[in-house]
Amino acid sequence: MIVPGNLFILSAPSGAGKSSLIKALLKPESLASARPMQVSVSHTTRDPRPGENNGEHYHFVSVEAFKAQIANNAFYEYAEVFGNYYGTSEAAIDAQLAQGIDVFLDIDWQGAQQVRMKKPSVTTIFISPPSKEELENRLRGRGQDSEEVIASRMEQAQAECSHYKEFDYIIVNDDFDQALLDLTTIVNNQRLKCRQQSIAQQALFSKLLENDHKKA
Ligand code: 5GP
Repeated sequence: MIVPGNLFILSAPSGAGKSSLIKALLKPESLASARPMQVSVSHTTRDPRPGENNGEHYHFVSVEAFKAQIANNAFYEYAEVFGNYYGTSEAAIDAQLAQGIDVFLDIDWQGAQQVRMKKPSVTTIFISPPSKEELENRLRGRGQDSEEVIASRMEQAQAECSHYKEFDYIIVNDDFDQALLDLTTIVNNQRLKCRQQSIAQQALFSKLLENDHKKA
């Protein structure tokens, strides 16, 4: 019997290092690699950017196709961001989970709220920057953006941070290796729960409980 996969949401203000953490977690040498893991590929109505591939970075669809999927209740969650739609397909996620794949959703707090309502078993993780100064340093990046752009990014980041209490776990990404270990611990913790282990270790427990010992 296949052990169903776990669903995880990772949310963070941009600049917290979420993408690097997910990338490291999914590497073959990661301490969480004992079970298959995938990042969910969202649907969007925006145009692909150079270097983006359909089905890899996003599923690029028309507004009509996206609206038809909304009408069919096909999304775990969706949002309109800067005039484009973005959504997480319920059927695709459920199929991955049924195959025993742990799935990671890289979505914001609004998406997290919607998924939590539909799937209360989801594990939600907030990744925080270590300080406001460090966040600003990271958002300033290569120093090519105007003060106005940076101020607007800081405002967005603060809005994301204001929802930290809604999450099951909080990881402060100060030292990257420690943050990765924290993330790995959360993922492995879910896998070790009795609900999952009783399926994964079914053969072991039926042997342990076999009544075949001889009485003296
Ligand atoms: P971009 O167009 O730069 O790839 O993404 C724009 C924004 O849309 C980002 O803040 C990203 O987190 C968000 N986003 C991407 N996919 C989804 C999704 O499936 N659901 C929601 N709610 N937001 C998404």
